[in-house]
Amino acid sequence: MEKTKVVILGAGYAGLMALRQLQKRGDASFLEITLVDRNPYHYEATDLHEVAAGALDADRITYPIDHVVDDKMTYFVEDTVTKIDKQARRVELANHDALSYDYLIVGLGFESEDFGIPGVQENALAMDSVESAQRIYQHIEDEMHAYREDNDPRHLHIVVAGAGFTGVELLGALSEQRDKYAEIAGAAPNQIQIMAVDGAQRPLSVFSEKLVNYGIDVLRGRGAVIESGKGIDSVEPGVLKYSDRQTGVPGEVVAGTIIWTTGVRGSHVMADSGYTGKRNRNSVNRYLQDPEDSHVYLVGDVATAIDPESEQLLPTTAQLALVMGEIAAKNVIADITDYELTEFSYKSLGTVCSIGNTSAIGVVGTDHEVKGYPASMLKKVIMNKSLMETGGMKEVLSKGRFDLYH
Ligand code: FAD
Repeated sequence: MEKTKVVILGAGYAGLMALRQLQKRGDASFLEITLVDRNPYHYEATDLHEVAAGALDADRITYPIDHVVDDKMTYFVEDTVTKIDKQARRVELANHDALSYDYLIVGLGFESEDFGIPGVQENALAMDSVESAQRIYQHIEDEMHAYREDNDPRHLHIVVAGAGFTGVELLGALSEQRDKYAEIAGAAPNQIQIMAVDGAQRPLSVFSEKLVNYGIDVLRGRGAVIESGKGIDSVEPGVLKYSDRQTGVPGEVVAGTIIWTTGVRGSHVMADSGYTGKRNRNSVNRYLQDPEDSHVYLVGDVATAIDPESEQLLPTTAQLALVMGEIAAKNVIADITDYELTEFSYKSLGTVCSIGNTSAIGVVGTDHEVKGYPASMLKKVIMNKSLMETGGMKEVLSKGRFDLYH
């Protein structure tokens, strides 16, 4: 019997979950899986901010993809996907021959979104991969060293553009490292200015005002502030320019380090392959299939998932990507073996935003609020669960988070 070729693009949360499920439910006698990723490692994208702040080394948030590949039925190809040719059912790669597929699971994830704001690409640092997070910390370190040379205070200023979930998590991690930066610079901790600038009047509007105020107080206690209601107009070298959303009055922040976290979009490979979804997120049917081709599944941040109960668009998260990856894999096997397909459904475990390693704010279930250290422990439990689902117990034991000090 000819084997069915399943190609998975991306070894992120969605892609690895799909791989593990296919390997568990499938069999080498009828299935040939090819997994493609541009890196030889999986990374926990939810922890990128800790690498960017210098709180964790990259090897604490990565593990080799080989660890989860069952070489009896799966080939791993380390390469960059350049295009999906839907007509020919082939995937084009930068350095290998194109791959043909019977079924395709696309989990190429997210990239930083600049919303076309002038100067972002040239003058701000994105945080959408391990390399980019490492570049941010290297930049901060270089700035702190530069202060020792010329005593120019702008080297000590770090500004985060955007105070959404990612921006606030980054602010929390940066603020926890303030003493370390000061030591490198030979400056006093209170000379290190850490700030986020955001267009919304109130950051993190998914949470109650009380919870957000708690988070803001924690940050303030560590010397980090959020400037809300400031629409960012442009970024020039070392200068972030904005206008007050209510008064229109312009302002600017001068900073040696400008980090861009205003939002993300799906992989550009989607647009390059003819997908037309807004911000590279594309519609799927209730089985998570491309509405134009039932042999193509779109999972994680490249897809728009609608909650079947509320009919609302679900925010893109690692939790959601894991569920989508699992359902897509189940459906591929069901389709090959003539079983009924599973419809997409999703129950969030909760949303928890870390504020450094020791504090967090969040909501469990639909309305139970948590904050402070217990919330931070809950965040670690959720992260360990993700790690368990993509990497298994071995990775949880070596990379998991169990205590205050990671
Ligand atoms: P990704 O995790 O982005 O994985 C995509 C994979 O595809 C990667 O391995 C990448 O190397 C590979 N890839 C990309 N392009 C190519 C290409 N062209 N060729 C080959 N390989 C390619 N979510 C939560 O649920 N909880 C949180 O607390 C949380 N915190 C976050 C904190 C931060 C700082 C950030 C940035 C995100 C956070 N998120 C959180 C969101 C979450 O990380 C994403 O929703 C999730 O990573 C999406 O998973 P994915 O599998 O779709 O893609």
